[in-house]
Amino acid sequence: MGGRDATMVLLDENGIRCDGRKVDEPRRIMIKAGGLKNADGSAYIEFGDNKILVGVFGPRDVHPKHMSNTDTGILRVRYHMVPFSVGERKNPAPSRREIEISKVIKEALEPAVMLDKFPRTAVDVFIEVLQADGGTRCAALSAASVALADAGIPMRDMVAACAAGKVADTVVLDVNNEEDQAGQADMPIGYMPNLEKITLLQLDGVLTSEEYKKCVQVGVDGCKIVYDIQKKALQDKYFGNGGD
Ligand code: UDP
Repeated sequence: MGGRDATMVLLDENGIRCDGRKVDEPRRIMIKAGGLKNADGSAYIEFGDNKILVGVFGPRDVHPKHMSNTDTGILRVRYHMVPFSVGERKNPAPSRREIEISKVIKEALEPAVMLDKFPRTAVDVFIEVLQADGGTRCAALSAASVALADAGIPMRDMVAACAAGKVADTVVLDVNNEEDQAGQADMPIGYMPNLEKITLLQLDGVLTSEEYKKCVQVGVDGCKIVYDIQKKALQDKYFGNGGD
């Protein structure tokens, strides 16, 4: 949040944002379930200009063994950006940011996955960000849920994710990269619509308590839009023509 480009109009007099969207409009979202032959489950998401691939492996033996738990399975998540995913080459070594995002995605998925059904084993979720444009953690979390379902992992619900934020003193849905850099707040939300439970909520920026409540409401509504697209991706693969 820094007002990097003071000349950019984030919201014009007609309530239209810098990329032509209305305040409550998400970017274009496309999700495909499956696609990776060597993974037990997989998904690909395009969320605006974000392009992310997720592979799920397991439940499988845990190595190193001391990490296993006799009472429950464990979930391991690696979020990784490929070097060409951003304008300035990203070092392929894991950054602090990638370690943090891996952790928050893992914690956001854990309430959805029935880990107690497969003790002593691990489910590994590998996330590769091929192209990043703001909001990759939400897009990755949404795709990871679909990939877990595609792998047949027992789940209580899918986690759908979308950010809300504050741009030009206005609460908006799905903050893009420019809005994230020049706007006032960004609030990524992960939500399980059937269980009505939030599993991820972060906030970068400053909001009044009214704006905070509005952001949560707008973000949760965005998650419901994403959820329908996640379900459609699975329906297309298993009941439609999209199978592979
Ligand atoms: N980004 C970048 N280089 C980096 C890391 C991030 O250009 O090394 C960009 C990328 O487009 C990312 C955005 O900054 O989506 C916002 O990053 P943030 O940490 O807020 O996470 P995200 O919004 O992707 O969940």
